[in-house]
Amino acid sequence: MLQPLKSSNLVNTGAQATAKLSQGEHNGLQQDERGTFKASNADAGQNTGNSTASTSRRWTLDDFEIGKALGKGKFGNVYLARERQSKFVVALKVLFKSQLQDSNVEQQIRREIEIQAHLCHPNILQLYGYFYDKDKLYMVLEYAARGELYKELVCCTHFGESRSASYILSLARALQYCHSHNVIHRDIKPENLLLGLDGELKLADFGWSVHAPSNRRRTMCGTLDYLSPEMVEHKIHTSAVDNWCLGVLTYEFLFGGPPFEAPDHYDTYKRISKVDLRFPDSPEVSPEAKAFIRKVCEAPAGRCDPYISALLLIKDASQRLPLTEVENDPWIRAHADPKLLGGQ
Ligand code: AMP
Repeated sequence: MLQPLKSSNLVNTGAQATAKLSQGEHNGLQQDERGTFKASNADAGQNTGNSTASTSRRWTLDDFEIGKALGKGKFGNVYLARERQSKFVVALKVLFKSQLQDSNVEQQIRREIEIQAHLCHPNILQLYGYFYDKDKLYMVLEYAARGELYKELVCCTHFGESRSASYILSLARALQYCHSHNVIHRDIKPENLLLGLDGELKLADFGWSVHAPSNRRRTMCGTLDYLSPEMVEHKIHTSAVDNWCLGVLTYEFLFGGPPFEAPDHYDTYKRISKVDLRFPDSPEVSPEAKAFIRKVCEAPAGRCDPYISALLLIKDASQRLPLTEVENDPWIRAHADPKLLGGQ
């Protein structure tokens, strides 16, 4: 049986002063017109760590009005919901404990909750808290009003350069924040990206993520097309696997499919391992965008071969573009939404 993570049956996310579900005059919740959770002033002071959880109200399903189904996941469903007192709108993810047990993923879910609960960034889907009853585990999540980015990508087949650059910059910032908290996401792909009311990107699904204090791991995880060379070769990997995925995602946004697709898994592995990257002729994509993914430089005097000068899809993980450099890249600067670039 899934054991509680904490002594109370709702654990506030704690680290987020903006995200507490607690009992108080306004139930600790206020929502602005964009649907952002805000703790009332009275609560904000208390809301500094998980130690507050034990003094918080125990939430049950009765505290929420349940609305339409938003989607179906592997272990349960996600519903639009509203906390009764505050009228605060959330997405309630309902997971069946029996299914988690049968699939032996309790530990993975526990880790997902622990990690996501401590992250607070505008481009990361907020986990406000969780509670459980006899059969189910409920995750109280930020509502992403425009749903899955993947659906939009399928609908448009590929994105234009400004839309792609804006999403990639937002994701680079979210990942930079994760890495600065020693979290590697390890499963970046369009299916794990949601969109807020204004179309802003929200990184979700931390099921494969890991706290990486040692920063060196071997587990093969994530989704085939997005695996990095070090992962397919079962070598030690670091947070640079997420930088690789940022390159794969840029390619998929711009060209409508992942770069190393092949008829079978083995061929995909081979292509990844060799970094067998080809840019199709259509749709037409600028050289700057291609250079962001992988830059091939002219052979310098005295050398006969052109060489690859880093950026994202490069085999040597240590040579991948640092996430802090993404916003200085010429393609990003030329195409990302000026609001994201600080209006410059
Ligand atoms: P998941 O179980 O996380 O894979 O979620 C299943 C589906 O529910 C997703 O593919 C989305 O369409 C939808 N969904 C999940 N979380 C949210 C959310 N926070 N806001 C809006 N829709 C969501």
